This record gives sequence, structure tokens and C-alpha cells, in this order.
Amino acid sequence: MPKPAEYIRGDQYLFNNKVLANDEVAEEKFLLRFEKQFNLKAGHVVAVAVDQSHDPRIYSVCSGEQDPYLQILFDLKEDGLLTPQLAKLKPGDSFYVSKPYGSFMPDAATPMWWIATGTGIAPFYAMMRSGFKAERLLHGSRYGSHFFFEREFKQAFKENYLRCQSGDDGIGDYFGRVTSYLENQEQLPTHNKYYLCGRALMVVEVRDLLISRGIPYGNIVSEIFF
Ligand SMILES: Cc1cc2nc3c(=O)[nH]c(=O)nc-3n(C[C@H](O)[C@H](O)[C@H](O)COP(=O)(O)OP(=O)(O)OC[C@H]3O[C@@H](n4cnc5c(N)ncnc54)[C@H](O)[C@@H]3O)c2cc1C
Repeated sequence: MPKPAEYIRGDQYLFNNKVLANDEVAEEKFLLRFEKQFNLKAGHVVAVAVDQSHDPRIYSVCSGEQDPYLQILFDLKEDGLLTPQLAKLKPGDSFYVSKPYGSFMPDAATPMWWIATGTGIAPFYAMMRSGFKAERLLHGSRYGSHFFFEREFKQAFKENYLRCQSGDDGIGDYFGRVTSYLENQEQLPTHNKYYLCGRALMVVEVRDLLISRGIPYGNIVSEIFF
């Protein structure tokens, strides 16, 4: 039976959407592409559900403002509620997606540092594809295979794109976590804006470190994947 066109849960409004592609880009990491029903701004998120039986989950949009589709990049949580179902979606399947929204927006008037771990790279990919530039982009991961979109980032940001690898399969530009890279910088520009995206532990650790190095709290913008 076809799914209803809309799904309303509390103040969330989701629309029936169609999967265009769903690829496992690294072990348990999926890039899900679907129809663009509304325009978006780089940094936006969408709420997603596979059907009306559960609460929607939120994902950063991982495609540019001009791209003719939307994408999300997600971690499969084996024991999670939504991601095991998302991982099974095939082209042509329907699911529910909200209008893009959010406040993690780039500020093109101020030099920006973008700092991500894991799938937290998603909004920065959207920003890069939408024409925004980072003075520096740090992407932290344990595994070399998790530096998603590395070729495009390298091409766009050259030596200002740094893969910070904390594991040992040896392809990173910096060997250690993003926090240790930041700790080892003699100076961090205090007038820049610092955009942080990923799991809570990293975001809180980096935020505290930046504040201890004299970065005003107002120059730190965070998106936490909780
Ligand atoms: C603003 C925002 C943006 C986000 N963007 C992304 C993104 O781009 N990519 C991405 O991968 N994720 C993103 N997330 C996270 C995402 O929304 C989901 O939380 C994530 O995908 C897990 O969903 P799930 O339903 O599969 O797992 P869940 O069912 O939510 O479970 C997640 C984990 O928590 C455990 N758990 C669940 N309930 C409990 C409990 N009561 N006690 C202890 N443990 C529990 C589960 O066992 C599992 O390991 C974002 C979150 C936010 C808030």
C-alpha cells in the first residue's frame, strides 16, 4: 500500500520522498540521496523517518545548495531504531523527509575554521559545494577510509584541508586527534569563527580548548549529533 503523502508528528511536518541512491561509502557509513522537494541553505538539517511508527531523527544535509538532489551521510547504529532501516532503503523506496531548516549557517564575511569528526563532515561538504570557503578544515577520524569527499576537499582547500588520523592505517596529514592538532598550534586566530560538528564529546572538548586559547565564546558555532 502506498504511504500517505505527509507525516505530522507534534510540530514536525514530513513529506513523502523517494530514494535516488543509497551507497555504503565505508563500513557502516551510508550516503543516502533523495529528491529535492525544497530549496536549502548550506548547514541545514532535515528530519527523517521511514514510516509513521517512530519519531523522526535529524540529519545534516550533505549536498550543495545548487545540487538537484539532497543527501545525508549517516552512521549505521546496529542497535538503533532508524539507521538499520535507513541502511536497507533502495532506489525508488519511499520515506519521509522534512523541509530543510536549522541555524548552523556559514558566515562568509568572517574567516572560518571548520572542525569535524566522522560523519560530522556532512554540513561542511554542503558548505563547500555551495561555494563557501574555510581558512582551515580539520577532519578527524580513526580510519583512513572515513575521510569522506577527501578528493574534493583537497582540491578546494589544498594544504588547508587536514585529515587528522588517530588510528594507524597511515594516510592522514596529521597523526593525532583534532584536539591535539589544535593544542599544538602556537597561535589560533582569535577573530575567526570556529564551526564544530560531530559527537558531543569532541564538540565540548574542542570548544573548551578554543575558549582556553582566547577564542571568544561567540565565535564558536556548534552542531552536536546527539
Ligand atoms: C542536529 C543533528 C544533526 C545530526 N546529523 C547527523 C548526521 O548527519 N549523520 C548521522 O549519522 N547522525 C546525525 N545525527 C544523529 C541522528 O539524529 C541519530 O541520532 C542517529 O542516526 C541514531 O539514530 P538511530 O535511530 O539509528 O539510533 P537510536 O535509536 O537513536 O540509538 C542510538 C544509540 O543510542 C543507544 N540508545 C538508544 N536509546 C538508549 C537509551 N535509552 N539508553 C542508552 N542507550 C540508548 C542505541 O543503542 C544506539 O547505540 C544528528 C543529530 C542531530 C541532533
